[in-house]
Amino acid sequence: MKKNIIVLLSGGMDSATLLWLAKKEFEDVYAISFDYGQKHKIELDFAKQLAKEANVKEHFIVEVPHLKGIKGSALTDSSIEVPSETYPDEPPITTVPMRNLNFLSIAASFADVYEIENIGIGVHSVDSPYPDCRAEFVSAAEAAINASSIMVAKKKNRIYIYSPFLGITKQDVLKIGLELGVPYEKTYSCYKGTLPPCGECATCVQRKEAFESLGLKDPWFSE
Ligand SMILES: [Zn+2]
Repeated sequence: MKKNIIVLLSGGMDSATLLWLAKKEFEDVYAISFDYGQKHKIELDFAKQLAKEANVKEHFIVEVPHLKGIKGSALTDSSIEVPSETYPDEPPITTVPMRNLNFLSIAASFADVYEIENIGIGVHSVDSPYPDCRAEFVSAAEAAINASSIMVAKKKNRIYIYSPFLGITKQDVLKIGLELGVPYEKTYSCYKGTLPPCGECATCVQRKEAFESLGLKDPWFSE
C-alpha cells in the first residue's frame, strides 16, 4: 500500500470513484474541495458527505474567489448560461480558465506541509476537450510541483500526480466504481446546480450515458 494522497474531490462521480480507489491503494487519504464561485456550489455538500463516508483523514475546503471574479466561463459567470446540450465548442464555454492548475497548485501546498506524496485528480478521456484535463497538462503540472516543493527539496523524494483514469472513458470509470461500491446516489455532477440535477447539461448527459452504456440507470434519474 502506498503512503498517502490528497484527492481533488468535486462531489461528482469521477472524483468520488477516485476517492474510493484511493482508499484501497493508500494508507492515509485526504480530500480537498474548492469553493470557486461555481454556480453548482451545491456540489460541495455532496463532497462533504462523500468525504465523511469515505472516512478521510481530513477534508479541506478552500475558497478560490478570483476565478469567479475573472468570469468568462459559463460555470462562474452569471451572464453566460450553462448550455443544455453537449459541448459545441472546444474548449467548451464551461471551461474555467486554469482551474486544474489552480487546484493542483493549492493541493500541492497542502501536500508540502502535510508531507503528502500523491495528489489525485479524476480526469478521463471524455474530459479531453478541456485543456487542463489532458495528459500533457498533468505531466507538466507534476514537473512544476516537484520543482517548487519544499518537501522534495528537503527529503529528495517526489510528489506524484495520481491520475489513473487518464486515457479511459467515463464508462470505464463507472465500471471501476461499481466494483468498489461507490455510492453514486450521493454524487452530484450537474453544472446548473439544480436539485434534482437538470438532466440536460453536458455533465448530466455524460453520466446518464455512462450508466446506460452498462445497462443501468443513473440513480438520479431512475424513475
Ligand atoms: Zn445538469
